Amino acid sequence: MIKVEHIGIAVKNINNSNELFTKLFNQQPYKLESVESEKVSTSFFQMGETKIELLEATDPDSPIAKFIEKRGEGIHHIAYEVENIEAEMKRLKNEGFTLLNETPKKGADNKLVCFLHPKSTNGVLIELCQEITSS
Ligand code: ZN
Repeated sequence: MIKVEHIGIAVKNINNSNELFTKLFNQQPYKLESVESEKVSTSFFQMGETKIELLEATDPDSPIAKFIEKRGEGIHHIAYEVENIEAEMKRLKNEGFTLLNETPKKGADNKLVCFLHPKSTNGVLIELCQEITSS
């Protein structure tokens, strides 16, 4: 894994939270994006080399809705940038970690992503992400 790419924060209302975090960071989000597959609206703030991703559920079935129901708003996942997501998924699977998706899927911010089950990572939801490069 190369670095912490971003930290994901589950919020109830992304418009309110964008205002709050804009005040907190003294900067605007650089991107707002909906991810259909995950049923979320997201926004991203650039913090040096790392980003903060806010996530609001767009559907009661969304993993974010379930997370907030169980644990309330707060830090939802930590995302690590990887060079080769397939190789890293294979490596982690061999090490005994549980992958939540068996093939990389399209995430927010032009990334291929894979999540690890928090039961295999001390309760922390880990996201692997690799930038999609247009070739
Ligand atoms: Zn993320």
